[in-house]
Amino acid sequence: MASTEPLLRVEKIEVLYQKVITAIHGVSLDVHPGQITVLLGANGAGKTTTLRAVSGFLGSDDADVSEGRILFDGEAIENRQPHEVAARGIALVPEHNKVFETLTVTENLDATGADSGVGKATRRQMIDRVFEYFPRLAPARNRLAGYLSGGERQMLAMGAALVCSPRLLLVDELSLGLAPRIVEDLMTQMVKLKKELGLTVLLVEQSAHLALEIADHGYIMENGRIVLDGTPERLRQHKDVQ
Ligand code: ATP
Repeated sequence: MASTEPLLRVEKIEVLYQKVITAIHGVSLDVHPGQITVLLGANGAGKTTTLRAVSGFLGSDDADVSEGRILFDGEAIENRQPHEVAARGIALVPEHNKVFETLTVTENLDATGADSGVGKATRRQMIDRVFEYFPRLAPARNRLAGYLSGGERQMLAMGAALVCSPRLLLVDELSLGLAPRIVEDLMTQMVKLKKELGLTVLLVEQSAHLALEIADHGYIMENGRIVLDGTPERLRQHKDVQ
C-alpha cells in the first residue's frame, strides 16, 4: 500500500436513511493521492450511498452519516452541504442527470465551473484541455447536450468536473449503459488524466472486470459493508469478480 497519507479517509461510517434505515455499516476506506481507487459491488451494496456521504448529497435523500468520520486532507467533512464539499476540491460525476440537456456542450463546461472558486482564465485553459482529452466533444461544442450519445454525455460530465481542477474526482458508475468500447476509451482517458494531471479518483463500479484493469487499489462492498480490499490481483480472486 502507498506510504503517503490518504487524501480521503472514510472511517467506520454508518448511514441512516429517514433516521431509521441503516444502509451502510462501519464502512472504512482510504483514497491515496494520484491513485485510482475503485469501489465494487452488486446492485444495492451501498456504493452510491458511500459516494453521496463523501460528496454531501445525502441530505437531499433525508439521510445522514450517523456514526464515524470522513476526513479530506485531514479535515472532517461528514454531513456538510454539497457546495461546501465542492469548494474543498471534491467533484462528483453522478450516476444520473449528468449534464444540463438544454445547454450546449461549451455552456455545460462553463456552467459547472462558474461557482467553483476557480478563476475564469484557469477554467478557459481547462476547457481547452477537456477538448484535447475528449476529442469527440470538440466538433459538438455548440450542440445541445440533450442530443449527445451516452458515451459523449459521460465524457462531458467528466470534462465538466475537470474544469474545476478537482483534487478528488468521484465517479458513480462510469460504465452504466455504455458499449464496452466506449467504456474502454473512457477508462484509458482516466489513466491518462491520472498520469498527466496527477488526478486522484474514487470510482464506483458494478463492472469489476474493467475497473480492476485501471485500479491501483480497490474495495468490494456487500450488504452495506466492505468485505475485501487490496490490489486488483487480490480482488480478482473474490468469487463475484471472476
Ligand atoms: P446501485 O448500483 O443500484 O446504485 P449501490 O451499491 O450504489 O447500488 P445504494 O444505492 O447505495 O447501493 O443502496 C444501498 C442501500 O440503501 C440499499 O439497501 C437501498 O435500498 C438503500 N437506499 C438507497 N437510497 C435510499 C433512499 N433514498 N431511501 C431509503 N433507502 C435507500
